[in-house]
Amino acid sequence: MIDSDSSDKTFRQISETIQAHLEARDWQDNPPRGLAISIALEANELLEHYQWGDKPVGKRQDLAEELADIFIYAFQFAHSNDIDIPTAILEKLDKAAKKYPADQFKGKTDDEKNEAWINNKLRHKKTTL
Ligand SMILES: [Mg+2]
Repeated sequence: MIDSDSSDKTFRQISETIQAHLEARDWQDNPPRGLAISIALEANELLEHYQWGDKPVGKRQDLAEELADIFIYAFQFAHSNDIDIPTAILEKLDKAAKKYPADQFKGKTDDEKNEAWINNKLRHKKTTL
């Protein structure tokens, strides 16, 4: 299953591998709500490694496995909601670039960055879910 070219796999190939893994076990029908909960639970498992300090408890492999759990559930969530992950990421980055213009942050002090962040966050406050 894992080969030396694993890091060159595309989003589509990873998604297909995950779906094949799920279908082989009849696990492909997890509801989106359960998948969203699972993403949060796995994120908390990753966070647990940092519970008592900036230096993580455990090995790099432990962190990689928790991160993989998050992504695996995220890919399932994307699949079940017909979300194209690369498109969603690029659209979100474009939106974030408009919300937080680089010239307001690059080379600024921490106080200036914090002020810009708050001002932009308030200006772009969500009015919908
Ligand atoms: Mg986990």
